[in-house]
Amino acid sequence: SLTLGIVGLPNVGKSTLFNALTRNDVLAANYPFATIEPNVGVVPLPDPRLNKLAEIFGSERLVPAVVSFVDIAGIVKGASEGAGLGNKFLANIREADAICQVVRVFADDDVIHVDGKVDPLSDIEVIETELILADLQTLEKAVVRLEKEAKVKKDRKPVADAAKQAQEILNSGKTLFAARTQVDTELLKELSLLTIKPFLYVFNADESILTDEAKKAELKAAVAPADAVFLDAKVEAELLELDDESALELLESIGQTEPGLHALARAGFHTLGLQTYLTAGPKEARAWTIHQGDTAPKAAGVIHTDFERGFIKAEIVAFTDLVEAGSMAAAKAAGKVRMEGKDYVMADGDVVEFRFNV
Ligand code: GDP
Repeated sequence: SLTLGIVGLPNVGKSTLFNALTRNDVLAANYPFATIEPNVGVVPLPDPRLNKLAEIFGSERLVPAVVSFVDIAGIVKGASEGAGLGNKFLANIREADAICQVVRVFADDDVIHVDGKVDPLSDIEVIETELILADLQTLEKAVVRLEKEAKVKKDRKPVADAAKQAQEILNSGKTLFAARTQVDTELLKELSLLTIKPFLYVFNADESILTDEAKKAELKAAVAPADAVFLDAKVEAELLELDDESALELLESIGQTEPGLHALARAGFHTLGLQTYLTAGPKEARAWTIHQGDTAPKAAGVIHTDFERGFIKAEIVAFTDLVEAGSMAAAKAAGKVRMEGKDYVMADGDVVEFRFNV
């Protein structure tokens, strides 16, 4: 499954956040046979629609979709210079599907900042620079090779050109993700570049920032088009120890209405280009993870490969239509249930039953 790699400067709250990510029991509860790597944290994607479906179908349990975060420990500054640990750090990032950078915005004189002061945008630049330098090294070798290949094989020319274009972008200090509309990123895929991956920023903040909408808007704008999440990692860890009522009180005391991990799960899901569709029956109400743009057979394949191979059609009702009708039978009577074929592109919130041959 797709993962977000957590990176950040030392002392910004990565371990604190990661501990909060690993301390939920969603995986253990729903996937008892899954092996969980020690450096992987799995968070459920909050989805109130499942509760509603469980009401309608009398489902015994709810199974939410999940988002996986990988803790990428290691040095940051100087990583692109290729010292042993730096190489390992970059190799781990290469394996992740998106980059989740934790950035310190909290003020705390007891926690030392590696650069002496809390400056989120400068911290972001430090990490981006290492990744940009690593990509430039990759490209330096690749461009020489690609230009040779382009001389004998015409179809390699566009790849060579895209690689040279990528060099220009990176030399101007931009990541390929930020400049993704300026270069054909599909052509660059074979080069496993780092800054082409989608970015997500987690601003580890205290109450003064969490309640400062202007400051948050400013940071958000600075990292766009990447997603930004604001949370207090220390509070997130504490929340998991509390019952629902006390947790809500603690959140309200810092001006929040929901745990930051919920927002993080949603942003992670979005950054990875994922979406869900829903199934429901007496046994379970469940959200299934697919890519944005997936067709019905592809979506069926997430449940079982046989479902994809033997796909006939999908019986689909939009979640809101189903809720409005109150039951599957009523939705059918109201003409809200559609039969979709193999070319149908799934929409978020589709409630689905697949028909297939075995
Ligand atoms: P890492 O080096 O990025 O993994 O950072 P840690 O998670 O180990 O955090 C470094 C220090 O900052 C620890 O003493 C944490 O308790 C503290 N810390 C982490 N998050 C917060 C926060 O949101 N607010 C405050 N005040 N301290 C925090």
